[in-house]
Amino acid sequence: MPRPPRRGRAGRAGRAKPGLLDALGARVSAARAATEARGETFYQGPSRVHLASFPPKERWDDWVELSSRAWPAADERHYMLVPTTCFNCESACGLLAYVDRQTGRVRKFEGNPEHPGSRGRNCAKGPATINQVTDPDRILYPMRRAGPRGSGQWERITWDEALDALAARIRAAISQDRRNEIMVHIGRPGEDGYTERVLASWGVDGHNSHTNVCSSGGRTGFQFWMGIDRPSPDHANAKVIYLISAHLESGHYFNPHAQRITQARANGAKVIVLDTRLSNTASQADYWLSPQPGSEAAINLAIANHLIQAGRYDREFVRQWWNWADYLATCHPGRPQTFEHFEEVLAGLYAEFTFEYAAAESGIDATVLAEVADVVAGAGTRFACHCWRSAAAGNLGGWQVSRTLFLISALLGAVATEGGTFPNAWNKFVPRPIHVPPHPRVWQDLSWPLEYPLAQNEMSFLLPHFLAEGRGRLDTYFIRVYNPVWTNPDGLSWMEVLTDEHKVGCFVALTPTWSESAYFADYVLPMGHGPERHDTHSYEQYNGQWIGFRQPVLRAARERLGEQITDSRQVNPGEVWEENEFWIELSWRIDPDGSLGIRQYHESRARPGEKLTVDEYYGWMFEHSVPGLPERAATEGLTPLQWMRRYGAFEITSQNGGLHSQPVPASELEDVAITAAGRVYSAAGAPADSNIVPAGAPEPDAAGRRAVGVRVDGQVLRGFPTPSGRLEFWSSTLAGWGWPEHALPGYIKSHVHPDRLAPDQMVLLSTFRLPTQIHTRSANAKWLDELAHTNPVWIHPADAARFGIAATGDLVRVETEIGYFVAKAWITEGIRPGVVACSHHMGRWRLDGGPRAAGAMAATVGLHRGPGGWRMQHRAPVRPYVSADPDTQRFWWSDTGVHQNLTFPVHPDPISGMHCWHQAVRVRPADPGDRHGDIAVDTAAAREVYRQWLALTHPAGQVSPDGTRRPRWLMRPLKPVPDAFRLPDGAGQAGPGQGPAGASPGGGQRVEPDR
Ligand code: SF4
Repeated sequence: MPRPPRRGRAGRAGRAKPGLLDALGARVSAARAATEARGETFYQGPSRVHLASFPPKERWDDWVELSSRAWPAADERHYMLVPTTCFNCESACGLLAYVDRQTGRVRKFEGNPEHPGSRGRNCAKGPATINQVTDPDRILYPMRRAGPRGSGQWERITWDEALDALAARIRAAISQDRRNEIMVHIGRPGEDGYTERVLASWGVDGHNSHTNVCSSGGRTGFQFWMGIDRPSPDHANAKVIYLISAHLESGHYFNPHAQRITQARANGAKVIVLDTRLSNTASQADYWLSPQPGSEAAINLAIANHLIQAGRYDREFVRQWWNWADYLATCHPGRPQTFEHFEEVLAGLYAEFTFEYAAAESGIDATVLAEVADVVAGAGTRFACHCWRSAAAGNLGGWQVSRTLFLISALLGAVATEGGTFPNAWNKFVPRPIHVPPHPRVWQDLSWPLEYPLAQNEMSFLLPHFLAEGRGRLDTYFIRVYNPVWTNPDGLSWMEVLTDEHKVGCFVALTPTWSESAYFADYVLPMGHGPERHDTHSYEQYNGQWIGFRQPVLRAARERLGEQITDSRQVNPGEVWEENEFWIELSWRIDPDGSLGIRQYHESRARPGEKLTVDEYYGWMFEHSVPGLPERAATEGLTPLQWMRRYGAFEITSQNGGLHSQPVPASELEDVAITAAGRVYSAAGAPADSNIVPAGAPEPDAAGRRAVGVRVDGQVLRGFPTPSGRLEFWSSTLAGWGWPEHALPGYIKSHVHPDRLAPDQMVLLSTFRLPTQIHTRSANAKWLDELAHTNPVWIHPADAARFGIAATGDLVRVETEIGYFVAKAWITEGIRPGVVACSHHMGRWRLDGGPRAAGAMAATVGLHRGPGGWRMQHRAPVRPYVSADPDTQRFWWSDTGVHQNLTFPVHPDPISGMHCWHQAVRVRPADPGDRHGDIAVDTAAAREVYRQWLALTHPAGQVSPDGTRRPRWLMRPLKPVPDAFRLPDGAGQAGPGQGPAGASPGGGQRVEPDR
């Protein structure tokens, strides 16, 4: 967060009053005169030049600060400042490592002012990176299981032993055509495509992600509108900012967005926040709406209806850019095919979504909703919006929350405008790598099952059930920045399959720290934290494109001093490695002679027959694939790689504006075909440097021509990467794949809608972040743990009185469909009556007798399986202990919360595939024998709930209109070859004509789960 200037001090250039500077200068002069009069040397401060918010980059080789511990002596410390990228959330803010020139160690991390996204600022988690680097409990050497899985018995091995064993397994699986038995499951990627590229080089469709327990609900709504699955709001220039989440404190691209929202507020922007909790974000809002969970889409539609009924929408934008003609042609074929007629239809489509209707659904007064709608309407094209996890991740049909939110943007014409919302791919840059392996020829049914043809991402959280059903087995399963037992719902089902060697032959954890999942691994291989590894990344944080470089900072520092470093293990603690070098080495050992065709993608171009190095990999990328970087580097006499090692980030463009309205150049128009709806296909190849048409680009036409644009009023413009080339108000994909009733932005009543709750049930919000923690990665940062370490259950006073919960701190039992957890109550008016909330960041644990992980956060537990299922009990809380870090003896807290996710069954949305996190629960005072942190789970019941939700799907074999498993135009990491999309024999095919009729914004009843 930006730091306000201190009183009486020139905090940033241009902020202090001239008089203040004059006074300060006079005081410094007086001090100098007085000191020199005493015959002493005047110490003019370490910066020598001026007071500054950030160290100027010209002085990063030798930055001087005083040691705070030596005060009042002026003990100067000399630092080399080396940029890298924070890895404590997805924002990828720039960090500067302060490398002590005397000790060669990193002293601290602060913000990198040269980073265009974060602009020198960080949240608390950025500087806490130093805790992770110096964590006394981190894993420093490769380990192999030495007893039964989960027994906690380990032996240290060499990297060679680990590599040879894994390479032999993978080589055998590939050679025996068991490619689908290899899987790499990634929590936070933190990079753009490296792992996918490795898997493609192996010919394996083995990429799995965490996205369907995170953001795919939000993504789906945006994807169906614009062919790109993420919004990029231009917060800084907005007049109205509309957030469906706690975005300002903990949202996606948290710090870079938060500082721009703050900037907009300072310029008078209004902030509207939909959040059932009184989050820090809600507390800063001009309008805080605390809706009944799941009613957010109804609120959006009421606002949209106001814009339509009052004629306060951008008619010209809607006429030009919505696919209204497709909609009329398909759903109203006998009616006039004119825009005027579409407007008549539109006026009726959402008429039922009055403020009164939305008030009844949400519990928010209709007059408040009307006032908010008026503010939204006044924003015009400066309406910036964001919806990511939150409601979109909580509810059955949550993807319609983001789809209805973008309906507001699309009505206002606030799409890719200054202060509006862009498709993220226009504000992100992914460079081409040195080698591009072909797409895999196989299809991984364990990640992309036939039941979920429209799933936004891999059905990762169903993996235990698929394995238990015998849909496949895994020979070698890697996890990376991922802790599936702890992060997912139904974690004990995960534990059951991860401990079954018939289902998972070899389980490998690539991780810097022990975790609930790593306990059950066969190999635990130590990987570097953010300042110990290489990655590139680029994220949509404003209207521009930048690329950032994460690097091992001690490597860069020592290279600046003239050393040659060839392997990150030479500078990292212990034998900690980085994944890029690990994957290159492993790929070579899988295919030592190149006969499998794998090695070629990990070979040097400059030195054929030798291994690719990370220097060559990134050097080639920065030289050949990042426009403007070579020229910029040359101005300082540096190579592009040297420039990125020195500054850490490069801005490629800014103020791109709306790419959809750019004319397609004549050079791209060759042997053109134009459909009746105006989609333009061309036989011309894509321009070499094109980053304009992103990964989700639609399929070629039957003649193999590329979709290049769309005809609008006689001009061929770039358009959007959707099937129609326009914004898809009506989705031909949803209509054609068995969901015609949801083809329009609409309202699907949640699985926790009040109509579906028993009288004694309430809604549990379980997904909110705390600003100073992040899932499974930050628990080994002691500063953060001191700030936030527990997760009480928020309960409104009225509910507490109803349940007989007398006071904050009393134990409550929260009963889910498959078990219960016991936690402390926090009685607060900051939550809506009838709703309880519990953050998902807490409740870390380690098995009694297992290695110590996250010593400041993980309670020691006992875990047993009996006739009624699993039971977990805390055996010992966090306590102070002796370690290499004296601070571990100063831990004053013991309550580290409860692991509530274990007690949740899976709730896969039948369309987006998103796990719908909200829970219908019963809350009551704990039983006399209950203890804080107790968990009970029946995994047989969890399987039954899985089957109920699975029954809601429309499998591809029943609905596919063209014999494929999935629409090829939808985004998919590591897309296989077209042949692999074909339905397998016997899966069936619906054939064309699964009627698109019946599109209705309120038609959500078909996806009700059996409760
Ligand atoms: S928002 Fe905080 S945790 Fe996330 S990258 Fe930036 S500094 Fe790191």
